[in-house]
Amino acid sequence: MGAPSNKRDGEKNALLRALPSIELLLRRPSLAPRLVGLPRGRVVAAARLAVERVRARLLRGEPKPFEDADLDAALATLATPRLRPVLNATGVVLHTNLGRAPLAAEAVARVAQVAQGYSNLEYDLDEGERGSRYAPVVDLLCGLTGAQDALVVNNCAGAVLLVLASLAAGRECVVSRGELVEIGGGFRVPDVMRQSGAKLVEVGTTNRTRRADYEAAVGPDTGLLVKVHRSNFAVVGFTESTELPALAAVGRPRGVPVFLDLGSGALVPVPGEGLSGELTVPRAVAEGADVVAFSGDKLLGGPQAGIIVGRADLVARIKSHPLTRALRVDKMTVAALEATLELYRDGRAEAVPAYRLLAQPPEALRARAERLRALLAERGVRARMEAVVGQVGGGALPLARLPSFACILTVEEPEVFLERLRGAEVPVIARIADDEVVLDVRCLAEEELSSVAQAMAAVGP
Ligand SMILES: *Cc1c(COP(=O)(O)O)cnc(C)c1O
Repeated sequence: MGAPSNKRDGEKNALLRALPSIELLLRRPSLAPRLVGLPRGRVVAAARLAVERVRARLLRGEPKPFEDADLDAALATLATPRLRPVLNATGVVLHTNLGRAPLAAEAVARVAQVAQGYSNLEYDLDEGERGSRYAPVVDLLCGLTGAQDALVVNNCAGAVLLVLASLAAGRECVVSRGELVEIGGGFRVPDVMRQSGAKLVEVGTTNRTRRADYEAAVGPDTGLLVKVHRSNFAVVGFTESTELPALAAVGRPRGVPVFLDLGSGALVPVPGEGLSGELTVPRAVAEGADVVAFSGDKLLGGPQAGIIVGRADLVARIKSHPLTRALRVDKMTVAALEATLELYRDGRAEAVPAYRLLAQPPEALRARAERLRALLAERGVRARMEAVVGQVGGGALPLARLPSFACILTVEEPEVFLERLRGAEVPVIARIADDEVVLDVRCLAEEELSSVAQAMAAVGP
């Protein structure tokens, strides 16, 4: 290309060179009135952000020099927290990108109480001496799962690493080839096993692993029989897998414990059509798992945590491993988890949002979608209401299809529309199906519908 592009490059470079320094920028008389009363740190950060954005704009080929409005925009950005609430119109109840499980009001209140001041996190009030930070949840977890002892760490990935490192480092772990899964976010069972120092012994084939395969693999060096929940896929057709009772029958007489990485970890049968088949933690314990690891913020509906329950002697060995200290949970997690577990103990599972969102009957969802459609119509946004299928999410029940209802919009450019929705004051996260915008109402509260409608109207199709 000849002269025109050279000319454009020259102009661009001139504009780039003309970008003001932060110091000069902040001394501009036209900006002074805007900056009165603002903390100096924020003003400097906004100036940096504004200049960075203008530079990116120029490099993109938009020949628009720095304007005072750029600083206003940067100040507005900094006035909004980076981590903030969004409206989940995806229909996915446990969405890892959207913070997984929303907490119960009881859990939120408990966190606030404990976070504001001092607490007895590691202080035994009866004895007046050092106590255990797990104490508030151990009895609850044992009561709810039937296990002898329990421990809580930062997340389930950490729990799996810890269990393997403390019970099987330098020894062999026997796993079915059909369960060597990648969960997402780079959590691959074989990699975690290597990290822990355990030696992976694969048995069976991708689609079939029998009891005899495990029996043949167990030897004097076997530390654990490991079973991994297939969280995000299913093997269908000509399949066979060995379930917990059979695994326990292999391990027990040989003195080899069975460890189950359950992932999602429901404490009670999951509500909703076709979801009740999910293996719960108490059933896993009853069926012979010696140690079970599961997440706090998947089907349990609590804070991010990795919960380990199991035989007292094994949990004691896990607790004494140095990684336990490295993976420990903070007081806010313990507070939220205790409050959430109390709801299950008291037979109030429906007060746990994740449970409630899954349990909603289709009629309720249909009525909510209809209300959203009406709110949109009031604001001049045309949508139709339709039955859709959603997902549980969070590595739970990969095959489950949740019947739900949605408002569907036909727009010129659905991707651009979603981007604008994400830019709303309270960002709305929706999805695209068949080139249309789909707003599933499952995870939207009644009182959020008007905010969604408002954002939609502001965006305009
Ligand atoms: C989700 C999942 C994990 C990881 O749990 P996090 O709490 O996200 O760390 C581990 N194993 C299985 C089977 C899972 O489904």
